[in-house]
Amino acid sequence: MKDDDIKKSPEESAIPPSDAPVVDEKDAGQEIPGVLPLLPVRDIVIFPYMTLPLFVGREGSISAVDEALAKDRFIFLATQKDPAMEDPKSDELYTTGTVAMIMRMIKLPDGRLKILIQGVTKGKIVEVVEGKPGTHVRIERIIEPSVKEDTLETEALMRASREKIERILSLKNMPVEILMVTENINNPGVLADLVASNLRLKIEEAQKVLEEEDPMSRLTMVNNLLSRELQLAEMQAKIQNQAKEEMSKSQREYFLREQMKAIKHELGDIDGKAEEADELREKIKNAGMPKEVLKEAEKQMRRLEGMHHDSAESSVVRTYLDWLVELPWKKETKDNLRINKAREILDQDHHGLEKVKDRILEYLSVRKLKDDMKGPILCFVGPPGVGKTSLGKSIARAMGRKFIRISLGGIRDEAEIRGHRRTYVGALPGRIIHGMKQAGSRNPVFMLDEIDKVGADFRGDPSAALLEVLDPEQNNAFSDNYLNVPFDLSKVLFIATANVIDPIPPALKDRMEVIRISGYTDVDKLAIAKKFLLPHQMEENGIRSGWVKMQDKAILSVIQQYTREAGLRNLEREIGRICRKVARGIAEGEKGPFQITARNVPKYLGVPSHILEKEAEADEVGVATGLAWTPTGGDILFIEVSLVDGKGNVIITGNLGDVMRESAQAALTYTRSRADQLGIPKNFHQRQDIHIHVPAGGIQKDGPSAGITIATALVSSLTGIPVRRDVAMTGEVTLRGRVLPIGGLKEKSLAALRGGIMHVIAPELNRKDLEDIPRHEAKQVKFSFVKNIDEVIAIALKRNPFRTERKKPSPKTASAAKRAHAGKPLPAKRSAPAKKTAGAIKPRKAR
Ligand code: ADP
Repeated sequence: MKDDDIKKSPEESAIPPSDAPVVDEKDAGQEIPGVLPLLPVRDIVIFPYMTLPLFVGREGSISAVDEALAKDRFIFLATQKDPAMEDPKSDELYTTGTVAMIMRMIKLPDGRLKILIQGVTKGKIVEVVEGKPGTHVRIERIIEPSVKEDTLETEALMRASREKIERILSLKNMPVEILMVTENINNPGVLADLVASNLRLKIEEAQKVLEEEDPMSRLTMVNNLLSRELQLAEMQAKIQNQAKEEMSKSQREYFLREQMKAIKHELGDIDGKAEEADELREKIKNAGMPKEVLKEAEKQMRRLEGMHHDSAESSVVRTYLDWLVELPWKKETKDNLRINKAREILDQDHHGLEKVKDRILEYLSVRKLKDDMKGPILCFVGPPGVGKTSLGKSIARAMGRKFIRISLGGIRDEAEIRGHRRTYVGALPGRIIHGMKQAGSRNPVFMLDEIDKVGADFRGDPSAALLEVLDPEQNNAFSDNYLNVPFDLSKVLFIATANVIDPIPPALKDRMEVIRISGYTDVDKLAIAKKFLLPHQMEENGIRSGWVKMQDKAILSVIQQYTREAGLRNLEREIGRICRKVARGIAEGEKGPFQITARNVPKYLGVPSHILEKEAEADEVGVATGLAWTPTGGDILFIEVSLVDGKGNVIITGNLGDVMRESAQAALTYTRSRADQLGIPKNFHQRQDIHIHVPAGGIQKDGPSAGITIATALVSSLTGIPVRRDVAMTGEVTLRGRVLPIGGLKEKSLAALRGGIMHVIAPELNRKDLEDIPRHEAKQVKFSFVKNIDEVIAIALKRNPFRTERKKPSPKTASAAKRAHAGKPLPAKRSAPAKKTAGAIKPRKAR
C-alpha cells in the first residue's frame, strides 16, 4: 500500500457548509459491519455527523473506497499521527476514528477520486488486517454513556457554549445561521462533536476530543477550547480595530474625495480639475509651511474644492494658494562665512573702496560669530553708480546667498510694501513678499534700493511698513495684507541704499548703519574702467579680448569730456557705446584689433558733451565759480551778478531756496559794510538794481555754502575787477564777513578737479576734511583755507580791490594764509570740529 493520498478539500478548512445535515445516531439505522476498509487521513480528525469532501490519491486508499462502494459504502477513517507520512503503518495511526459512509464519488481526470463522506459513529480499531490491495480493520463501535439532557448542569454548559459561539461568530463577522443548528441540538455530546469539528483545532486536540467518551466531559473540554478561541477572536478584533482606526481617517477622506470627484464628473466639471486639486494639495503638503499657515492653506483648499471651477472666487483662492505654496517657508541656502573668501570676492568685483570693504567684512565676521545677530541694517549712501548695488551682489555671492533687489523709489502707498487685502479685486502681495518668492530661499540678501525716496501721503506711510520689515524684534512675523498669515523675515540680510541720508525718516535711520561711498576720482575711474567696465562691456557685446585696445588717454577723455559724474553709470554706458560701434564694425567686415585713442574717441562717441570749465571762457567781471554738493556727488556752479541803473532793488533769480536767498542778503550787507575799503560808492545800492542769478534755473538750489561765491561775484561787479576763472570756492558767510564751514569738501573738490579747476578756496574750519580726500587728488588741488571773506576776495579777484589799509590779519592768520596758499597743512594745532552746515544744493525737478 503506497502512494495513498488523502487531502482535505479546500472547502474543508473553512467553516463547513452551514446546511451540513446532522444525523442522529439513532437514525443511522444501518448495520455496521465489524470489519471495514481503512482510509488513513492526513490532517483532519473526522467526527460523526460531519459531512465533507475528501480527495483520495493513494493506491491503497483508492481500492478501499472502491471496495466500500462495491459493498455497503461504509469505510473507517483513522487520522495519521504524522501527516507527512506517506505509507503509515497501523501503529502510526490513532486507533480511535470514525465510521463514515461514502455519499458520492467522482473520478478526477488525474486518476484521483473526490468523495463526499458523512461521519456515522465512532469506533476503535481492535485489529488490523493487512492485505493486498487494501488494509482492513476490525472495529468496535464506541457506545457513549447516556446523559440526562434536561439537568441544570447540562443546560448551563450547553448555553455557555452557545453564547461563546455566538460571540465568536459576531466578532468574526460570520453568518449566524449556524446558531440555529446549535439551538436544535439537545445532546451535549453531539454539540461537542459539532463544535469541535468546526473549530480549527490541532490534530492532537481534536483527537483528544474524539477519544473522550463521556459527553459532558467532552462538552466541558470543547467549552474550554471555545473560551480560548473567544479570547483569540477578541484579541484579533482589537488589533484589527486599531489598524482600521489609523487607516480609516485617511481612507475616509480618500473615499469622500473620490466620491466628490465622481459627483463633479457627473455634473460635467472639467476632468483636469481633480488632478489640479491633487497636485495643489501635494504642493501644500511639501511646502514646509508652519502649522498655522498650513491650517489656513488647508482651509482655503477645502473652500476651493467646494467652488465651481470657473467662478471668479475660485480663481482668487487658487492664486492665493499658489502664492502660499511658492513662498520659501523653509527652504534656505547654506551660509558660507569664510571671511578670507569674502574678502577675495569683494576684491574681485570692486576696485578700491577699502574702508567700505573692511566695514562689510567686520559685519560678516560678527554675523559668523553670532548666528542670531540682531544688529543694524547696512545702508550704503552715495551718488548713483558708485557700486552700491554691485557691493550688495558681491556680499550675496560671498555668503553663498541669493540676491534680490527692489526699488523703493517713488513709493507712496503702504500697500506697495505690505500688499492689498484679498477682498480687493486684483489684490496681490507687496514687494517684500514678491521679493521673497523670487528669491526662492528664506535667507537671501535683500536690497532695498533708494530708501531715501520713500514718501508718505494719504495712502498710508510705507516707511511704517518698512520699519516692521527691518526691525529684528518684529520681522519674524511680518504680516502682509494679502497673505494674512505671518511670514518669517528674520533670516533675511537686508541692505538699504540711498543717495542722501537726510530724507530717510529718523525711525528708519535709527535701525541702519550708514556706510558712505562718495564719488570716484578720475584715477579710480580709469582703473575701474580698465579692469572692470571695459572687459564687462566687451563681453556683453560679444567682443573677444584683444579685439579692442583702449588707451588710458582715451578712457580719460571719455571720463572728462563725455561724462561728468561721481559714479560710473555714464562712463559704463559710453564704453558700451564704443563696444557696440566696434561690434558693428566687425559685423560689417572691418578687421580688428580696434585701437581707441584720445583722438579717435569722437569717431565713436561724437562731439564731447562737456568742456573743461577753465577752457570755457576768459575771466569775467561779476561771475564767480562756486562748488556745490549734490546727491549725485559734487558739482560746479556759476554765480552771476549784474548791476543796472535803478532804485536799489535786489533781484534774485535761478530757483533758489530760502537759505540761499538769505545768503545773498548777507553777502550784500557785508559788501555794503566794506564799501569804503573796497572803494565803491557807499550808496551804490540806492542807485542801482542788483541782479543775482544762478544759472540752471530748472534745478532748485539751496543751502548756505554759496555765500562767499555770491559775495565775490558782487564785489567783482561793483569794483569792475574780473574773478579768476581757475579758482572755485565754497563757504558760508556771516554779516561780519566770517567764513563758516561747509559739508562735502571731498565731493566738491573732486567736482572741481573734474571741471579742470585746480584751486579751491574753502573755510579754515574744513581743513580737517583734507584727510578724506584721496592723496593723489589732494596733491593736485591747491587749497586755500580762509577765515574771512576779505581773504577770499584777495585770492579770487584778479587784483586786490582793498585800496586802503585792509584790516591787517593777525600774524598767525597771515602765516596760516600763506601756508594755505601753498596747500600745506597747518602744524599740529587742529581746529575744533566744526558743525557742518548742510551746504547742499538739492536738485528738484522743475515744477
Ligand atoms: P549704484 O547701485 O551705486 O547706483 P551700481 O552698483 O549700479 O551703482 O554700479 C554701476 C556700475 O559700476 C556697475 O557696473 C558696477 O559694477 C560698477 N562699479 C561701481 N563701483 C565699482 C568699483 N569700485 N569697482 C568696480 N566696478 C564698480
